[in-house]
Amino acid sequence: MLFCLSRFRPIDIARLQREIDELALISENPPPVVTRVLFSEADLRARTFVRNLCREAGLTLREDAVGNIFARWNGTETAQPPIATGSHIDAIPNAGKYDGVVGVLGAIEAIRALRKSGFQPKSSIELIIFTAEEPTRFGIGCLGSRLLSGVLSPEKAALFRDGGGHSLDDWRAKAFHKESLNSVRLPQNGYSAFVELHIEQGPILENEKLSIGIVEKIAAPSTLRIRLTGGGGHAGAVLMPERRDALLAGAEIALAVENSVLTSGSPDTVGTTGVFRIEPGAVNSVPCRAWLEIDLRDTQIATRDAALQKTESAVREICQRRKIEFTLDRVNVDPPAICDSTLVETIFEICSELHISSKRMISRAYHDSLFMAQVCPTTMIFIPCRGGVSHRPDEYSSPEQIEKGVAILARTLSRLASS
Ligand SMILES: [Zn+2]
Repeated sequence: MLFCLSRFRPIDIARLQREIDELALISENPPPVVTRVLFSEADLRARTFVRNLCREAGLTLREDAVGNIFARWNGTETAQPPIATGSHIDAIPNAGKYDGVVGVLGAIEAIRALRKSGFQPKSSIELIIFTAEEPTRFGIGCLGSRLLSGVLSPEKAALFRDGGGHSLDDWRAKAFHKESLNSVRLPQNGYSAFVELHIEQGPILENEKLSIGIVEKIAAPSTLRIRLTGGGGHAGAVLMPERRDALLAGAEIALAVENSVLTSGSPDTVGTTGVFRIEPGAVNSVPCRAWLEIDLRDTQIATRDAALQKTESAVREICQRRKIEFTLDRVNVDPPAICDSTLVETIFEICSELHISSKRMISRAYHDSLFMAQVCPTTMIFIPCRGGVSHRPDEYSSPEQIEKGVAILARTLSRLASS
């Protein structure tokens, strides 16, 4: 068989760990901090690093108009749709070195191991390195996979502006992507399957001493952006009945978010007011403006949408009562992903064959897989990370944990590409 059960040969975990460490040094901040914002100099250098590894592994490269990279191992039956795997290499400010990277460099190692073992795929195997999984530059996550799946239209993407007022087209031009975004969208079932290897970013696998999580469902995320305009004035001179305090309206809204979530009837509904800024921000001045950004998620779309509507009607009621003008923008309202049950079963069987402990689980964070599930059968392979910590420089998965994830990915790809 492909992998000796005890050591998973011929996976070269030492080489993979070296590559993970080397990629981590390509960062906008000194180590151990990893920061790679979309199309920053560090992001562009990291892309070159990964492209070179793909070439050395004998893969054929292609890139689309938003910078998604496709690296293909051609199968013997080119008429069949390819099997896809992949993840991302961009990183939020002050992040660690494993989020996304394990699914990209780990997939390259899985492909190298399969080649070394003499395996020849019938269906082609394609590694996708997605553009901007993190909402770093334009405030929206999974930019590349949203466009690939058609969930985001090129027209809407063209309206995005970063903090400096620069558009996606400005940044694409800098990164040498000049073609139209209309060419990015994938055909339905253009891949026969997509499997993403990723660190769990939560504590469940570690707590339960399990090696692998197989994702059955990805929670449905949504984001609201609210701008409140009241009346300012001197903190001593404006008497209480006259006040139109934007902060107090915002505070009531944040509590309304919590209430909408707690009364949803589903234990999986979560809501967070993660951004709350006020102006002018002086101790002797009544706050006249406030900005809130709210993240609301659930594994079930009905309870998520009900909580969203309850939050939005609370915003209207609070602002009317407090005489506050407001704008409310639904930045994204995405469906959950239900992963393909046959794929989940296949990976579960592979874990048993290799005597690797596993469980089926829900992903509460979202990933490019959420959008790939719109175009082809999809699931994810999770590996544990220390303390469930992610998006921090001390994010860590051990070489042994990564090796098991790569072994499961390699065998999954070989099984899918053989049929
Ligand atoms: Zn990630």
